[in-house]
Amino acid sequence: MSIKRPSKSTGATTRKPATSPGVRHVDVVMPRQMAAGQTYSGWVCKNKSCGLVIAIALPPAGSKPTSADANDQIVIKCPHCGDENLYRWSARGEHPYAVKGAGP
Ligand SMILES: [Zn+2]
Repeated sequence: MSIKRPSKSTGATTRKPATSPGVRHVDVVMPRQMAAGQTYSGWVCKNKSCGLVIAIALPPAGSKPTSADANDQIVIKCPHCGDENLYRWSARGEHPYAVKGAGP
């Protein structure tokens, strides 16, 4: 017997809009989990008055890291100042974390 399958597409091209509703989410390291002098992979906050390192929280060992496109843009909320900015995944790098104005 033959299974009759519907033809691939019935003309109606269902094109998804380019703008995806869900922006990629990246976990960041909380400032209290960061140590001054350490180098973290991530971005430097775009907020001029902040300028601290936004460190990417790495997935636990064993789990596959989420692969992102080089052109992917991610909205990240700075854990230091709370500013939300758009960062490019490919623009991330190693940044030393320096605590500014941290008095005793
Ligand atoms: Zn910031």
